[in-house]
Amino acid sequence: MTDTKYIFVTGGVVSSLGKGIVAASLGKLLQARGYKVTIQKFDPYINIDPGTLNPYEHGECYVTEDGHEADLDLGHYERFLNIPTSKANNITTGRIYQNVIDKERKGDFLGKTVQVVPHITDEIKRNIMILGKTGKYDFVITEIGGTVGDIESLPYIESVRQLRWELGKNCLCVHLTYVPYIAAAKEVKTKPTQHSVKLLQEQGVQPNILVLRTEKELPRNICRKVALFCNVDEDAVIQSYDLPSIYKVPVILAEQEMDKIVLQKMGMSPDSQLNLTRWKKFLDNMETAEKTVTIGLVGKYVELPDAYKSINESLLQAATYHKHKLDLRFIHSEKLNEQNVVELLGDLDGIVVAPGFGQRGIEGKFVALKYARENDRPAFGICLGMQCMVIEFARNVLGWAGANSTEMEPNASLRVIDLMEEQKHLTFMGGSMRLGAYDCRIKKDSKAYDAYKSELIRERHRHRYEFNNEYKKQFESKGMRCTGINPDTSLVEVVEIPELKWYLGTQFHPEYNSTVVSPNPLFMSFIKAAVENYG
Ligand code: GLN
Repeated sequence: MTDTKYIFVTGGVVSSLGKGIVAASLGKLLQARGYKVTIQKFDPYINIDPGTLNPYEHGECYVTEDGHEADLDLGHYERFLNIPTSKANNITTGRIYQNVIDKERKGDFLGKTVQVVPHITDEIKRNIMILGKTGKYDFVITEIGGTVGDIESLPYIESVRQLRWELGKNCLCVHLTYVPYIAAAKEVKTKPTQHSVKLLQEQGVQPNILVLRTEKELPRNICRKVALFCNVDEDAVIQSYDLPSIYKVPVILAEQEMDKIVLQKMGMSPDSQLNLTRWKKFLDNMETAEKTVTIGLVGKYVELPDAYKSINESLLQAATYHKHKLDLRFIHSEKLNEQNVVELLGDLDGIVVAPGFGQRGIEGKFVALKYARENDRPAFGICLGMQCMVIEFARNVLGWAGANSTEMEPNASLRVIDLMEEQKHLTFMGGSMRLGAYDCRIKKDSKAYDAYKSELIRERHRHRYEFNNEYKKQFESKGMRCTGINPDTSLVEVVEIPELKWYLGTQFHPEYNSTVVSPNPLFMSFIKAAVENYG
């Protein structure tokens, strides 16, 4: 292998077609043939990163090991490829412009007029190639966010055009479009795809491979028609129809030999073996599972399941490894109260209390946790969920009615969750939380140790507030133990009530570190408890 190969994935017609899943699936197939692959996402919006975005805008904010607040598609890349991503895997227009403007202020452009072409496009191209230039990867797949035709996407498509010219066979473009089914006419329609490809061609990019997103499998003549109108080989018109699980997408792309076509088009031998054994075993478990584990996710963004994407996927992975189907119920924390708690939580096998920010919906989280604690239901609190476990315990077991987090009540009389020292004087909101992977030392006689089977672990974080160590003794004496501690700062990372079957909260986010072939140990342990107790 000499040159790094660059594959671009663009999208047309509408958003939400699943470009991230197609990029991750293609990456999976190349990886399963023995190649080293990384996937990156270029987002045309002007935010520096999605960290400051409301989850209703773009779903979950994913966090990389190196502490970057990233687009949720990076979560898909990690779950599919089982390798970590980093800050370099997610670039936004905001960062591109910031870099260019910083250079301009330093005088780096030597008096030239700074323009979209070539200065912005050069910066986009430089960023596209950063990971490739490390020499660590055979393939760099770049997903371009947004839809072709958007004003914001133009500099990115122009950069792809230039790179295709410069890189020749080492560059390939996959375009994902939508083929709708018009029920009244009983027909599928290819016109939106034709128009979308024309738009791309007008911008100087001819796609090599088309992936058609459809509801149902398309007849072959439709693919032939699209090939004819779009200057694409017939076998390079691939379809991606709706499937019961996103994890099946690599399999249907492989059936259509998408990986082979990519290799051939890039002048590489398609003879390597495609090894998807572990992946297929997972799918097999998923399909043959007969029993169901029912988990309730208590949070305030439940209208938009993407807001908790990594938690949903971690639960699904763990349930699959326990040979159970997952029935995941989203429970709106704003609507949960003492009156309806039995009705809403009574038949659950386990309860997850979600991460989050701010006061809205917090009371419902306390109601859920009180119910779980008093009725000994497996309960898993993540980040804000863990902080709520601490507050609920303080109020209802220690009898400290005034206990709260200073996030919710800055003048609380008992600040059991308080702002971290280094957070106290920050003025910038973006990228300033405690972010990324930190060490955590686990006490041996704990559920956390049973899960990880290790005294030293590393998990990712995204928070400003922490357990207040001043009160640790009182908590421990009444039955809530701190079983995971950061060895450098003494920050509490895990709390448990050992007396209960499984009642555990983590200040970190284990959901960012759970993949199809390597599910997170805490999710595995939680689902095991849920299955054993009530399954
Ligand atoms: N709002 C809490 C904090 O900042 C928890 C954050 C989270 O759940 N990610 O500490």
